Amino acid sequence: MTAIQPVEARCDHCKQTRPLFLFEPDHGHLGAGMFTCRWCTREKQPLLCVRCWGAEKELEENDPGINQDAETMEQICAANDRYAARREARREADKAACEGIAAATEEATA
Ligand SMILES: [Zn+2]
Ligand SMILES: [Zn+2]
Repeated sequence: MTAIQPVEARCDHCKQTRPLFLFEPDHGHLGAGMFTCRWCTREKQPLLCVRCWGAEKELEENDPGINQDAETMEQICAANDRYAARREARREADKAACEGIAAATEEATA
């Protein structure tokens, strides 16, 4: 058995014959961002040599549009966490109140 060798062909970027890897964008979007995103609207992802692949990845990671989405996502998650914490505190308070009522009822009927 032999290890799978990447295909050697012309890199979509530097046009040199090298082992190529398919570039796949690794990010998500909120709302309509993906319809204007230069990575996601690409008809076909490029086959790139290691060097160009790395450069492309770096570009993707530094893309302001993508970072904006990630930031918004973080804000939404933080807000959700705060909401969940508040709800939890509320439930604890309700439970304590119920227990207080139950104890008082018990005392009254004893
Ligand atoms: Zn290349
Ligand atoms: Zn995208």
